[in-house]
Amino acid sequence: MGPKPEELGRWREAARISAEARRAGARAAVPGARRRDVAEAIESVIRSAGAEPAFPANLSRNHEAAHYTPSPGDDALLEAGDLLKVDVGAHLDGAIADTAVTVEVGGGQRHRHLRDAVHDAVEAGIGEVRAGVRVDDISRAIERAIHAHGLKPIRNLTGHTIERYLLHAGKAIPNAAGLSADRLEEGEIVAIEPFATNGAGMIENGPFGNIVRFRREPDDAGPVAGGWYRRFKTLPFTLRWVPPSEQKEFGKVRRHLQTYAVFVEQGGGLVAQEEHTVLVGSSGGEVLTR
Ligand code: MN
Ligand code: MN
Repeated sequence: MGPKPEELGRWREAARISAEARRAGARAAVPGARRRDVAEAIESVIRSAGAEPAFPANLSRNHEAAHYTPSPGDDALLEAGDLLKVDVGAHLDGAIADTAVTVEVGGGQRHRHLRDAVHDAVEAGIGEVRAGVRVDDISRAIERAIHAHGLKPIRNLTGHTIERYLLHAGKAIPNAAGLSADRLEEGEIVAIEPFATNGAGMIENGPFGNIVRFRREPDDAGPVAGGWYRRFKTLPFTLRWVPPSEQKEFGKVRRHLQTYAVFVEQGGGLVAQEEHTVLVGSSGGEVLTR
């Protein structure tokens, strides 16, 4: 189920802000930059534009595919040649956009084929989007585009429909054919997000990536957890966003939270990703995050 027509303006605006934040993140990702500063720059673009991050800026590097955001004390620096996924989202009153690009830090061309593969794949997938389309047609186009570069799609990462306050709603958009029996409906919002790798083509859980969320409103969890819930609802958040005095409460609140692991490539391969949020129209998809 997509947003009502009168709500579409908010979705478009959230998408415009997300794209601006994605571009700012890509510009800030230079050799020697602190990964935490890049994340904070992205989130500050979103907040300055009057939106809120829909999730912490994901800055996953090399064989990390997704779900890493810097911790409050992360002082890691980006290095020339790092393959960095800049995956960002903004929301306005629950209207969410989700978009990503992969940069090679320092602007070199070592990983050009990985970046080209996901760029071709996201465009091929978007090219299939229209009301009534089989999701499998989108998945097949994505897989084909990645194979054409001699790489593999990551089979257990998918795009997704988006609903109000729900980043991953009912339908998954796989990056390989034969995995979905769904069709898209007019007015739905979908994130198309191919991942390509020179590794095994599957991810597995790595260490905690500093991203958490409430599955539901916590009952009787104390003032800190209650405050976090009022602020973040069920959207993903991170300790960088709360005051240091509250960061100390994390151990106590943790049992109310879903914690996300970094997704790492099973074969240790390098991973690239590109992502756009798309409105499903009667005869095509409208990319909201250009
Ligand atoms: Mn997504
Ligand atoms: Mn994303």
